[in-house]
Amino acid sequence: MLIIPLTVGFLSTNCYLVACERELEALIIDPGFSGDEEKRILEEIAKRNLRIKYIVNTHGHVDHISGNMKIKEETGAQILVHREDAGMLMDPLKNLSKMLGLTVVSPPPDLVLQDGDKIRVGFLEFEVIHTPGHTPGSISLYCRSEKVVFTGDTLFAGSVGRTDLPGASHEKLMLSIIKRLFSLPDDTVVYPGHGEETTIGREKRWNPFVAYST
Ligand SMILES: [Zn+2]
Ligand SMILES: [Zn+2]
Repeated sequence: MLIIPLTVGFLSTNCYLVACERELEALIIDPGFSGDEEKRILEEIAKRNLRIKYIVNTHGHVDHISGNMKIKEETGAQILVHREDAGMLMDPLKNLSKMLGLTVVSPPPDLVLQDGDKIRVGFLEFEVIHTPGHTPGSISLYCRSEKVVFTGDTLFAGSVGRTDLPGASHEKLMLSIIKRLFSLPDDTVVYPGHGEETTIGREKRWNPFVAYST
C-alpha cells in the first residue's frame, strides 16, 4: 500500500492518495484543494502511472470536497460519500462554502455509502465505518490488512472533530470514537483529516477530549 499525504486548502486539510502498488489502482480521500493545488496530485498520479478509481469524501464539508470536480474531470473517478452527507456536495449552504464566501458545488455522488460497505482498489479492501457526530454522514475508512484507518474530522491526534456546526452532535461523536474507532486494534495507524498521524492505542491513552476507560 502506498499512502501519499498532501496538505491542501485554506484549512490545511489532509488529502490522501492511496494506491495498490501491484495493480496501480488508487483512490483519493478528501481532495480539499484551493487554487490549482490539484496539479500536485495529478503529477503524482502521472508519475506513478496510477488509475484513480474513486474519490472518497470522509464527509461533506467544503475543505474536504472542493477538488471533487477537477479530479473527476481529469481522472473519471467515481465520487463516493455517505448517504447522510450526500446532499452537502451540491449545496454551498450545507457544505459551508457559502459561510466562507465561496460557492463550492461538487458533482453529485456516483455511489452513496453506508456502514459496512466494502471499497476495493486493486488488492486493497477498505471497510466503511459510519462515524457520525462531526457531520451526520461522517465516515472512517479502515483497511484491516494494512492496519490503517482514515478518520476525516472525527478523530485527530490529541483532539476530536468540532461539533458546533450545523448537523453536528457531540454525543454521537463520542460514541463513534469510543464504540467504533477504539474497538480497532491499538496498533492501527490513524490518518486524520487535519494534523499529524497517530495510532488508536495512543489516542485511547492520551486523548484529553475522550473519556475512555478499559
Ligand atoms: Zn469537517
Ligand atoms: Zn476539515
